[in-house]
Amino acid sequence: MFRYSKPVRTIGVTKRSNYRDYRQQLRLDFNRRCGYCDSREDIASIGNAQYHIDHFAPRKRFPLLENEYSNLVYACSRCNIAKSDDWVSDSATQTIVDDNGYLDPCSDEFSECFDRDSNGNIIGCTPVAIYMIKKLKLFRIEYGIVWSLEQIDNVMDKLESVVSKYSSSLDAGRWNQLWNVYTQGRSIQNKLKSYFFK
Ligand SMILES: [Zn+2]
Repeated sequence: MFRYSKPVRTIGVTKRSNYRDYRQQLRLDFNRRCGYCDSREDIASIGNAQYHIDHFAPRKRFPLLENEYSNLVYACSRCNIAKSDDWVSDSATQTIVDDNGYLDPCSDEFSECFDRDSNGNIIGCTPVAIYMIKKLKLFRIEYGIVWSLEQIDNVMDKLESVVSKYSSSLDAGRWNQLWNVYTQGRSIQNKLKSYFFK
């Protein structure tokens, strides 16, 4: 599985004259994740400063789509910079030519044509996915690391709920032991995160 859920653009968003004004809506619609690599914002960057608004059909080639919400993708700086103005046709609606091109991250097809190996690295299952991996550099080790860090975060969240559950039923000594293990885990997690993404 490449991702647990797909982003969904809200229908009927009020038209804006500057695409940057959609940022908060787009961020929510994309679940605070990069549309292309699925990296969670709080894991792959500090705050949201490293996340950009990508134009799926590049605005330099299709200026009329600059402020069209349906053409926007919340994207990490790595993916946005790698994609740049690459496009394979002269039409914004023709997204693929001869197995090269791009799939909209909000499509089911996008979820289905990517997968992950046992280390969380992104792999492509179709020629178009392989094209996107090459162009967006989705083969980079960072994406497997982000995936693994998210798994650690999920485990720590579960541990946190267990620790909270036993806070009133365990004696103070045992609960403190559990709490110490939990805080050590969070500390290691934060060190790993800052080591890779600061
Ligand atoms: Zn990305």
